[in-house]
Amino acid sequence: MDENTGGLTGLFDPERVAVVGATASEGSIGRAITANLQADFAGETVPVNPNYDEVLGAACYPDVASIPGEVQMAVVVVPPSIAVEAVRQCGEAGIRNVVVITAGFGETGSEGASRERELTEIAEEYDLNLVGPNSLGVLSTPTGLNATFGPENALEGSISFMSQSGAFITAVLDWANDEGLGFKDVVSLGNKAVLDESDFVEAWGDDPETDVILAYLEGIEDGGAFIESAREATAETPVVMVKSGRTDAGAQAVSSHTGTLAGSEEAYEAGLEQAGVLRVENVQELFDFAQILSGQPLPESEQVAIVTNAGGPGVMTTDAVGDSSLSLASFTDETLEALSESMPEEANIYNPIDAIGDADIERFEEALDIALADENVGCAVVLSAPTAVIDYGDLAEVIVELQAEHGKPVAATLMGGERTESAKEVLGTGGVPNYFDPARAVRSLEALATYREIQEREYEAPQQFDVDEERAREVLESAEARGENRLGVEAMDLLDAYGIPTPEGAIAETPEDAVSVSQDIEGEVVMKIVSPDILHKSDIGGVKVGVPNEDVYDAYEDLVTRARNYQPDATILGVQVQEMVDLDSGTETILGVNRDPQFGPLLLFGLGGIFVEILEDTTTRVAPVSEREATEMVDGIRAAPLLRGARGREPADRAAVTEAIQRLSQLVTDFPAILELDVNPLVAGPDGVQAVDVRLTVDTDKL
Ligand code: ADP
Ligand code: MG
Repeated sequence: MDENTGGLTGLFDPERVAVVGATASEGSIGRAITANLQADFAGETVPVNPNYDEVLGAACYPDVASIPGEVQMAVVVVPPSIAVEAVRQCGEAGIRNVVVITAGFGETGSEGASRERELTEIAEEYDLNLVGPNSLGVLSTPTGLNATFGPENALEGSISFMSQSGAFITAVLDWANDEGLGFKDVVSLGNKAVLDESDFVEAWGDDPETDVILAYLEGIEDGGAFIESAREATAETPVVMVKSGRTDAGAQAVSSHTGTLAGSEEAYEAGLEQAGVLRVENVQELFDFAQILSGQPLPESEQVAIVTNAGGPGVMTTDAVGDSSLSLASFTDETLEALSESMPEEANIYNPIDAIGDADIERFEEALDIALADENVGCAVVLSAPTAVIDYGDLAEVIVELQAEHGKPVAATLMGGERTESAKEVLGTGGVPNYFDPARAVRSLEALATYREIQEREYEAPQQFDVDEERAREVLESAEARGENRLGVEAMDLLDAYGIPTPEGAIAETPEDAVSVSQDIEGEVVMKIVSPDILHKSDIGGVKVGVPNEDVYDAYEDLVTRARNYQPDATILGVQVQEMVDLDSGTETILGVNRDPQFGPLLLFGLGGIFVEILEDTTTRVAPVSEREATEMVDGIRAAPLLRGARGREPADRAAVTEAIQRLSQLVTDFPAILELDVNPLVAGPDGVQAVDVRLTVDTDKL
């Protein structure tokens, strides 16, 4: 669906817009769109409707083919039964940008879905930039283009906003207009039959007039494409997103630990983090972040200064800083000296600076000026409660001036109701956001700091290891030959082929065989039943650890008996005889992959063994991962100190763990047929890792 990217300009900057289905009838969408366009659009609005010669004072044409001259964009509002044909006519007439407002497509059942497929095909045939169907429309403030049927136009600004819900756009515009918050472009994505979030992230990432990209999404069409376009865009332009609704884990039955632990919510979290998207929990944060990101510079450091005239809110702010990744700045001696000279004795000159309740505007100004001048200060929160000596309008002037002078980001918390009105406009013009709740101010500054980190990220390509792809394919094909889609330890070679270390061992098909394998292995051995019908071997007593040579024969027979007792008709491939791995000095971890319908292969790492689901101590990333991302996975689990050698234990070879993650990443990227895979445990010892057990599900059609 990417053919239409690279050039959505026509969608936001057309000269002439045809409204297909324009009408003057009161209360109709066709009228609303025509009127909205006529109200502010600098270009020309051309009504199209075979029933009229004129609509709202403009000449009306029977179809788009009859319009003389070039038309860059069409808005389609005709009923669903004729909408597809209308879009085709746009394509025929050479109109490249089409916004389909009409509903009654994929959202309404099978007939609608097939109509939507037709629409996609036509768009492909004519290379259309198609928004919708089932869209509220698009708007772009520089030209006054309002091709929506909403009740309000947007104010001019530098935020571009996409939403999967049209209703949400109308609500947001109503609120934003009240707040004085402006937009560059707004698009209602509708059913995303052609253009989706990735296309707009890409387009706005390249748009010099867009400072912040906002997205309200219910789902992402193609996670991989989204990661790619967002990764690129976020190097220049922050992307803030709220995602509502939980997607299904997909139709595939989950049979692995990884599948249980790494569902679609984890995939979103990982994918968006890797894409550099600032994900927010709610709509308030979406706009809190948008305001500060569009109005303030990025902080040089995470150190916050708090300047206040009220003790209580100062403490609240300090707490909020404690909950964030920011920290309270510790002032230099010069700062402390300057503050002690200019502040009254009762004031607190240590951070948070409390200029106390009788602080007038001069004292406030001095305190903020000194704080912002401190080299240890990266950003500041200015807090005020209403007092008799402070006029919020004056304070706002001071904040805006000092912010501009020092070039460090400032968030204001001028608390109150009506009194804050006088400050609103000054702060708005100065780009300084004002939040009633100091916690919101702190979180917004934190978003700036996080975005700075994202911006500084250097893209690191995934490493390519020298692997034996052919041998891996043979293992997977052998499963296909047996008619199995589930593989267990008989697939150990798959890991070996990709350079993930496995203990010495082999699968024996008779007790005699087992004895002979064990004789080649030094010391006691581990024996495991090998059967595609037995997923969790130890649950049925199918694993024997520490078997001495002389017991191997009997152990073989015992394991087979246990398997038969559990399931008489189970397919038994034999018994694996494996070298003992030292679990005293090693830690049992889990390394796995699950495929998410949106984001594709999702890697998981965590504390492993038989208690994985109870511990739930895992990290996830979308494959393929870079070395940095693999390292983050290892260092990101709560039990990471354990791997670093807590309490006198020898530290694990974390580099080997990181490498195993990257090698598995390469394996699942090379073989889309691998649907899910668990290496549990991957024993992480001081001298490397050992994949002791493996289980996977394969889609043999994809081999
Ligand atoms: P399953 O997960 O199907 O029950 P595993 O092969 O993972 O089977 O074995 C279960 C547990 O037995 C492991 O978590 C580990 O504690 C122990 N174990 C298995 N293989 C070995 C081995 N080669 N060396 C030491 N311990 C092992
Ligand atoms: Mg296991």
